[in-house]
This record gives sequence, structure tokens and C-alpha cells, in this order.
Amino acid sequence: MPLDRSRDTKEATLENLSPIMLGLIGSAAAGLMTAVGALPILLGKVPSRPTRDMLLGFAAGVMLAASFFSLIIPALEAAEVQHGAGAIPAAIAVVGILIGMGAVHLMNELLPHEHFKTGREGPDAASLRRVWLFIIAITIHNFPEGLAVGVGFGSGGMLGGLPLAIGIGLQNAPEGLAVAVALLGEGYSRRRAWWIAALTGLVEPIGGVIGAGVITLAAPLLPWGLAFAAGAMLYVISHEIIPETHRSGHQNKATLGLAIGLAVMLFLDVWLG
Ligand SMILES: [Zn+2]
Repeated sequence: MPLDRSRDTKEATLENLSPIMLGLIGSAAAGLMTAVGALPILLGKVPSRPTRDMLLGFAAGVMLAASFFSLIIPALEAAEVQHGAGAIPAAIAVVGILIGMGAVHLMNELLPHEHFKTGREGPDAASLRRVWLFIIAITIHNFPEGLAVGVGFGSGGMLGGLPLAIGIGLQNAPEGLAVAVALLGEGYSRRRAWWIAALTGLVEPIGGVIGAGVITLAAPLLPWGLAFAAGAMLYVISHEIIPETHRSGHQNKATLGLAIGLAVMLFLDVWLG
């Protein structure tokens, strides 16, 4: 009898989880995909640069579609519920996106400089600095990604959050791989490269809980939160991810990856959302 009861409660809790718990679980699962994506490093199988550029292009495509279909359009819809159709929802989305882009830009500008002024000297200092700037940008943008997943679960329950959690998880895998490979190239051990890549994904559940919590407590913030998360992602796509995929001359593969990522996310969002 006790066995049966515990099974019942387990099933019940899955359905009755609070939005904040859903946000935590969903964003943690998405964040874990960063570590999963970096696994080939631990196994000693590093995909070739063209393949990596295509995979990272895929990540850019997924993020691009997620920005619009899972964040900007829901932001407009949420703003229309609050303010009616017209200029105000559009203005909220535009300003929210610009604040999100500006925030990541500021973090990019402010955070690393202190760290690198006194950093390692020598011929490879510039390359090491570039790699760490990339990693910091990935880590920073994982926060609004977690936020987006949390906001999705917080505002739309299971159906609101699931497409975002899947999409964000999908694009985290190539991002984790890119981070680990970049560190490997700077002479880090496989294990350390994998751990650092995994750590960049752990920012997501923090964003997830905050996103779900804030939206549950303060619904007026919903359109702002969604637009902000979209802006932060768009900044990283343009400023870090696409340039990284083009740096070694594999633009065609990178663009093919982007097209596939965009198509997959668009399909997922319309199908599941
Ligand atoms: Zn991303």
C-alpha cells in the first residue's frame, strides 16, 4: 500500500508542480545540455572545425528563432493584454530588447577588462583573452536564456516553457562544445575544459528560478522580461556566436547550420507552443 501511494503522489506532483519548480527543472535541464554537448572533449573526440562552425551556426539559428517566436511575439501578446493593441506594446518590446542588448554589452565591456589588464602576459595573451571573452559572453547570455525558460514556465505553465526549454537546451550543446574546444586549444586539460564548459550552463537554473519567480509575483513585468531576454540573446548572436563561426572561413557551413537551427526552432515552437 505505501508503495502505491508514493507512486500516486509522484504522478500528482509532476502535474501540480509550481511554475517556479517547473522553471527550475526546465532551465536546469536546458543548462545541463551545455555539459552534454562538451562530452566529446572528455571522450577525446573533437569534431573538426568546419563541423563545429556548423553546429555553432545551428545554435545561432535556434537562438534567433527563439528570440522572435518564443520571446518577442509572446512579449507583444502579453503587452497587448495589459495595454491593448497599438503603439505601447510595440514600444515596450523595442525598449525591452534594446535594454537587453545594452545590458549584455555593458557586462561584456565592464566585467572582463579588470580581469585581463592584470592577466597573463606573452604572445598568446591576446588569444587567451579572446577565448575568455567568448566564454564570459556565453556565460552571461545563459542567464537570460534561463530567465526566458523560467518566464515561459512562469507565465504559460508546462506548454509555455517546454518549447523554450527544448530550444535553449538544443543550442546549449554546441555552445558547450565550442567553449570546451576553445579551452583545449589554449592548453587546458580535457577535464578542466569540460568542467568550465559545464559551469557556464549552471547559470541557467539561477536565471530560471528568478524568471519564474518574478513573473509569478509581478505579471506586469512579463513583456519586459521576455523582450529583455530576447535582446540579450540577439546581442550574443551578433557579437559572439556568428563572428566565431565565420572566423575560420567556414561561412557556408555556418549559414547552413543557422538555417537548420532556425527551421528546427520555428517548427518546435509552432508545434509545441
Ligand atoms: Zn545560447
